[in-house]
Amino acid sequence: MSVLDLARPDIRAITPYSSARMEAQGGTVLLNANESARSPNVPGGEGLNRYPDPQPRGLVETLADLYGSTSERLLVTRGSDEAIDLLVRAFCQAGQDSIAISPPTFGMYAVCARVQAAGVIESPLDASGKLDPDALLAAVTDTTKLVFVCSPNNPTGNLVELATIERLARELQGRTLLVVDEAYLEFSGTRSAASLIDDFDNIAVLRTLSKAWSLAGARVGTLIARAEVVALLRRIIPPYPLPSPCVDAALAALSYEGRRVQRHHVHELLNERARMARALATQPGVREVLPSHANFLAVRFDDAAGTYRRLLAAGVVVRDITRYPGLGDALRITIGTGNENDRVLAVLGAGA
Ligand code: PMP
Repeated sequence: MSVLDLARPDIRAITPYSSARMEAQGGTVLLNANESARSPNVPGGEGLNRYPDPQPRGLVETLADLYGSTSERLLVTRGSDEAIDLLVRAFCQAGQDSIAISPPTFGMYAVCARVQAAGVIESPLDASGKLDPDALLAAVTDTTKLVFVCSPNNPTGNLVELATIERLARELQGRTLLVVDEAYLEFSGTRSAASLIDDFDNIAVLRTLSKAWSLAGARVGTLIARAEVVALLRRIIPPYPLPSPCVDAALAALSYEGRRVQRHHVHELLNERARMARALATQPGVREVLPSHANFLAVRFDDAAGTYRRLLAAGVVVRDITRYPGLGDALRITIGTGNENDRVLAVLGAGA
């Protein structure tokens, strides 16, 4: 059995759109894509009259190197949000199939499933906030096509051990695709599940330049999976997902100098995360700071709503996560610069 047998048969049979840029490459007089022959008269506009490469080779190869994979196993997407959507649409038949998630977790898995009219099976994190692999496996049904595991998890910050991911992949082989969302992996110092793709054809890993690479505004995500999964998703991804200025920004961020700066920023963030975790734990009204492997801290308060309002009144916007199961008293605070973090502490230290 191939992992593609899990995908929607109608998607496997679809004739993909064939864009002008894909059909003919090379040449110097480009009259095949109904573009303007003139660059726009805007700052940085040189060349923007042309459609971008659908999957720019230079960026794909650079990302393959960064993530320890190969070009044919990579799909570059408009943020990992787009990869989640593509996976759900390619694998879940509307009104029939389902995904499985472990809430509290990133909201887009369920949103994409609902947009596709797919079911959402929930297997909550256990009382200590850890993923429960036995419960998750027991929750999977014959119609479950995708199991989403977020590690480090948003919004709790907990990590799922690679051994647990390997066990899930093994037990789900031939039944579902295991999607491991590693948006925050760089802050955890742990190995990527991409290393398991050689052994398991049913793993897809999501990475992004939005967090540790400071490029949320450029929308550059990567899906890493077996080549046949990547080829399937390429059939349904819109023709030109990556704007050329975003590709240029990504390549600059991933240059030798860019990587040096990135390492420095991640190092600084980890120091600030440790400082904030210690300092927050001693603030009045703080019940618990959840251990985090990401670039944020989930913090339980005696009065989460009041704390949210006080921070907001001081100009500090944090994320209210009280709607998530098990987090009814919690706020999620992204780690900012040293000064920004000091402002959080100053507001909390001033008391109610
Ligand atoms: N996965 C997780 C766990 C996230 O927290 C986010 C963003 N908040 C995303 C994916 C989407 O990231 P992007 O689309 O910017 O790559």
